[in-house]
Parts: sequence; C-alpha cells; structure tokens
Amino acid sequence: MLQTTTNTIAKVLKIDYSVNVKFKGVYTDTRKRMDGALFIALVGDNFDAHDYIYQAQQMGAVAIIANKSVDSQLPILVVNDTQTALSTIASWHLQNIKPIVIAITGSNGKTTTKNMLANILSLQAPTLKTQGNLNNHLGVPMTLLTLEKQHQYAVIEMGANHLGEISHLRKIVNPDIAIVTNTLDAHIGTFGGFDNLVKAKGEIYSKNSKNIINTQSIFTGDVSFTPHGNTKVSGNNGDIFASNIVNNKFDLNIHQQKISITLNLIGIHNIDNALAASACVYPLGIDINLIKQGLEATKAEPGRLEIIHTKQFRIIDDTYNANPYSTIIALKTLQNFSGEKIIVLGTMEELGNYSKMFHFKIGQLAKKSADTFYSYGKIALHHCSIHFEKKQPLANHILTNHTNATILIKGSRMAKLNKLVDLLKK
Ligand code: ATP
Ligand code: UDP
Ligand code: MG
Repeated sequence: MLQTTTNTIAKVLKIDYSVNVKFKGVYTDTRKRMDGALFIALVGDNFDAHDYIYQAQQMGAVAIIANKSVDSQLPILVVNDTQTALSTIASWHLQNIKPIVIAITGSNGKTTTKNMLANILSLQAPTLKTQGNLNNHLGVPMTLLTLEKQHQYAVIEMGANHLGEISHLRKIVNPDIAIVTNTLDAHIGTFGGFDNLVKAKGEIYSKNSKNIINTQSIFTGDVSFTPHGNTKVSGNNGDIFASNIVNNKFDLNIHQQKISITLNLIGIHNIDNALAASACVYPLGIDINLIKQGLEATKAEPGRLEIIHTKQFRIIDDTYNANPYSTIIALKTLQNFSGEKIIVLGTMEELGNYSKMFHFKIGQLAKKSADTFYSYGKIALHHCSIHFEKKQPLANHILTNHTNATILIKGSRMAKLNKLVDLLKK
C-alpha cells in the first residue's frame, strides 16, 4: 500500500504545494473508513465526491486531492483532473516497487486466468492480483496502489467496452507480459462490430512486453497487433498445448515437458484458461510442478460454472454473466453430467443489433441440450422453451416438477438469476 507524504505526491503530480503530511493508503469512497489515508475526490455518473470532503475527514482521511479548492481543514492538493492524478500516482508507485507485471484482457476468462496466474506465481514469490473484477480505469490504478514492497509479481486484469480503454490501461501498467485470452463476442454491441472488438483487445500488446497470442482459443486477432513479435503461442501446433483431454483432466505440454493436470473447475474453456496462464508464466522460468500446483488449486469464482449441491439438485451456477459463446460452453459442459438435465437461461445483454439472432440460435441449441428448457426475463424464447417472467413461480415450478436433476442456470448479470439459485437452495 502506498505510504508517503503530500509533498512527494505534489512533486509526482508537478504541482506547487507546501503543507507536508504523511499518509498511508489512497481511497476514493467516503462510505468506508480510511484512517491516515489520502482521499481522491472523483467525479462519477451518480455522485461528485467533492460534495463529500467533510465525510472524508470524518472517516479518517488526512489529505485530499480535488479538482478545485474546497472548504476543509485538511490539506488539499488541487489538480486539473482527479482521475488522471489517481493514475499518475498509481504508475509512479508501480515504478517504485517494480514487480514483474502480467496484464490480461480478452472477452472471456480474464478473472479465471488471473486467479490461475496468481495461484502459480504466489508459490514462487509474493504476488498481487486484481481483487474481484476491479479491471477498469479506476480499478486498475486502485489495485496498483495496494502494491507492497515485497510483491515480486502483479497480475492485472483489464476490461474494456470501447476502443482506447485497454491502450489507456496499458500505459498506466506498462506490463512485462501481455495476453488476450480470446476475442469472442462479449460487448460486441458497444464495440461497434467485431473488427473493433479485436482491435480493442489488441491494444494490450506493445513493443515493451512479451506478447502472448492464445491460438488455442479462437483468437481471431491480427498478429500484427504485436508489433515486435516476441510472441509465445499456446495452441494445438504451438509451444504450449493440452492433450488427452477428458472432462477436467488433461496433459499440459510446455515445450518439451509434459505433466498431467486435474482442474478443480469444469468446462473445456478452463483448459484454455490454464494454457493461457501457463503461457504467461513460461517466459518467467517457473517450474512445471509449480504450474501444476497453482492450476489445480484454482477454484470457481461464485456464479461461474460453480457446482452447488442442494437436497434435490446438482446446480451448475453460471449466473455471473452470459454472452453467446460462454452460453454455448455452458451448454456443452452440461453434457458431461449424467441423469436428467434442466436448463434455465436468462437474457444475454450487450448484444446490440445481434441480440435477436443470437437469442434465437442459442434457444435452438438449448432445447437440444436438455430434457427441459426454461427461459426467463425480457427476451422470451417462446419458440422453444417454457417461459417465466418471475423467479419465485419458476423456482416453485422446478421444485415441484423435478427431482435429482442437474440444473444449469445462466443469464446476464442484469437477469440476477443468482436469486433463483438462492430460491432453489431453500
Ligand atoms: P468479465 O468480463 O466479467 O470480467 P472475465 O473475462 O473475467 O469476465 P471469467 O470471470 O474468468 O471471465 O469467466 C466468466 C465466464 O466466461 C465463465 O463463467 C465462462 O462462462 C466464460 N469463460 C471463461 N473463460 C472462457 C474462455 N477461455 N473461453 C470462453 N469462455 C470463457
Ligand atoms: N462517493 C463518495 N461518497 C458517497 C458517494 C460517492 O465518496 O457517499 C464517491 C464514489 O466512491 C466515487 C465518486 O464519489 O469515487 C463518484 O461516485 P459515483 O457513484 O458517481 O461513481 P460511478 O457511478 O462513476 O462509479
Ligand atoms: Mg473478470
């Protein structure tokens, strides 16, 4: 965690300043305690934190960064733009600690690959990783600001909805190793077409990093996005690949070495994620046994193909989010289980003009993939499913009409199908 003085920060931000106080930690939310810390007032869509300067002091802040002079007893550093100040301080802190940084972006699998990487690298040396999903223009710098002296590795997840966002994050982070897990169809609506999506992810690559192209996943990206080669490939004919795949078991092949792996995660895509993580640590000279140990220690994040056993059912909780590709994978994964199969699908958001077409196709596939197919929410798949508009009636229906089944539940975050999982647990 950053620990320094306001005078040092003033130099970093190139502003005139005279009151010197020590602080430890940087915070942006007055709803949490921040004793002895620096508070940066950000302007968001809902709130302007400049309205909460008094609360910042109440919550323990000892200095403030603001975009105007505000009424406060605390020392205030005034900058043009507080968000830029946050990024500048984060970059500076990173340069002081100098860990080896691995940056991950992609349509799917970022968090899982990040967890795998952090589990592997922590076996070698202290490692910082992005907490949860804090992967945007605020989450990335906030993550960097928690770096401690002992951290030798940092694994940073980067998310984007628009062109230019990853490029912005790359400049803050300046990674040693960069990977695009894949360029599937996530957020295709907001990117403005597939070409732009591929371009946007490719912004993570630069001449300063070793760039990993994951050809195992459908990486449709143009390799020219990696300007200076420096590429390790994971893929069928690549240096790093999986063989003898049986459900969650496979042989990991890394150059001339081979080791058997049993993942604690279901879904074929997690083998892709394991290969992506292996490809990133290979250039760091990490022993293959540590790679195995780290991969096998990785567990499902809540709501990402997480298996939950209830009295009546085996639930595959994939309610965290949904897009067409991840839904296809979930449907395939369900085929690995025997017995009665049920699917509950909610709406897939962020598909723009492609929405209708994708929902139709996925609906057809879902119908073929299970004994019973329930759809839920806004986009009704009436053509092929039993449709419900409310969760409680759907839960009641499932509880009274089925027993001992495996139920895959998936939908976009906005569908909040995790609440259905809770209802079925009771
Ligand atoms: P977000 O954009 O929400 O941060 P993410 O990229 O971090 O997502 P994860 O949280 O690792 O992705 O996984 C979310 C879901 O994406 C999984 O439950 C699964 O359905 C799908 N998924 C994960 N990895 C892959 C992959 N390699 N290929 C395709 N789909 C994947
Ligand atoms: N904020 C705060 N105290 C509050 C409400 C908001 O410090 O009581 C901060 C919040 O943490 C954020 C900023 O004000 O840094 C802008 O908030 P908003 O919710 O608008 O952010 P966004 O919606 O962009 O995430
Ligand atoms: Mg994520």
